[in-house]
Amino acid sequence: MPVETELYELLGVSPDASEDEIKKAYRKKAKEHHPDKNPNDPEASQKFQEMAAAYEILSDSNKREVYDSSGMEGVAGRGGGGPGGMDAADLFEQFFGGSGMHFGFDFGAGSRGGRRRNSSDSIIEYDVTLEDLYNGKSVKMNMEREVVCETCKGSGARGSAKPKKCVKCEGKGWTFVHSQVSPSQLATSRAMCSECDGEGEKLREKDRCKKCKGEGTVKEKTRQEIQIGKGMSDRQRIVLAGAGDQTPGSPPGDVIFVLKLKPHESFERSGNDLLTTVKITLSEALLGFSRILVTHLDGRGVRVSSPPNKVLKFGETIVLRGEGMPVYKRPEEKGDLYVVFQIEMPDEQWLQSIDQAALENLLPPKKVEVEPQPAVVDEADFEECDIADFGEDEDDWEDEDEEEDFHPGMGGEPDCRQQ
Ligand SMILES: [Zn+2]
Ligand SMILES: [Zn+2]
Repeated sequence: MPVETELYELLGVSPDASEDEIKKAYRKKAKEHHPDKNPNDPEASQKFQEMAAAYEILSDSNKREVYDSSGMEGVAGRGGGGPGGMDAADLFEQFFGGSGMHFGFDFGAGSRGGRRRNSSDSIIEYDVTLEDLYNGKSVKMNMEREVVCETCKGSGARGSAKPKKCVKCEGKGWTFVHSQVSPSQLATSRAMCSECDGEGEKLREKDRCKKCKGEGTVKEKTRQEIQIGKGMSDRQRIVLAGAGDQTPGSPPGDVIFVLKLKPHESFERSGNDLLTTVKITLSEALLGFSRILVTHLDGRGVRVSSPPNKVLKFGETIVLRGEGMPVYKRPEEKGDLYVVFQIEMPDEQWLQSIDQAALENLLPPKKVEVEPQPAVVDEADFEECDIADFGEDEDDWEDEDEEEDFHPGMGGEPDCRQQ
């Protein structure tokens, strides 16, 4: 049972609703509460934003899990993962398609100002390694952005020239378009004027500023620096406020870096904890060890000594406290490192080089026959194989993606249970 249920209530679903149910509920509610459909309800906009935020969290299985276990506080605490990461209008358009004729047009016109500001935010995905997130990193990047043209101060006009009313749309900013719905039916709808981009007015060719060619903005090369903090998470956003594109007459956009963690070959991360698999030899499993077990993400060796008289079994796990990821914003605190042991058996060459009879005397005894013996006993051939061939004749079994989902704790081989 989740600690909070407010988001579920907002969408009118139960806390155990399926992904599909949540999607359907949001689709219905968002249409119902859309501000353009409720012009007389001052709270419609607020409600609409809240539902979008609720949907954004509940539709993402990771965020939903965090919300269920630690509520809004948990979601907000995960850097950048909280609500408002995506604008309600953006989400709505993504959901229903921005070009939807009847619905989409009204919507676009109603909030045009807001959309324009958002569209000048630059979102950049930035690949990071687990080492980067463990050690922190400063990254310098050359970028290009739009800045307001100094010559015309953003008007796009030459001298004091003024734009003239658009001839195509007669200043309305939109035109009627006709589309053939069926052979006998012609639909008429409104569309933004392509000539003036919906402005209703336009500068004549000769009245345009020479430097920016009437655009009002010019490209500028900049150098940005971002700090990847120790302990940051995958998908975390680093926002450089105001460093994005400038648009005449409105605040400049932001540059938003979204960290994208590349999988690591030996460590897996979950929150502040790390997981790794270590191979030890059969001798180490039986007689213990004291050696550098792990080379950490900062290049440090981590030495571990096993306690005396401890036999380690395949898949057994230990935890190295304080050797996990640094906690974001409190890097002196660290999570834990879980180590799963795999045992490397000696090879046949070794077996042939030793006194096998002496070994047998040292090892625990072999298994004896099952008693009482079953009435029927058949002989079967010993043949080596690849576990991937298991169930091969089933056609829809093969799925390359699924096979990557290997968990070190479970081992790569079937568990050989004692009979
Ligand atoms: Zn026009
Ligand atoms: Zn200019």
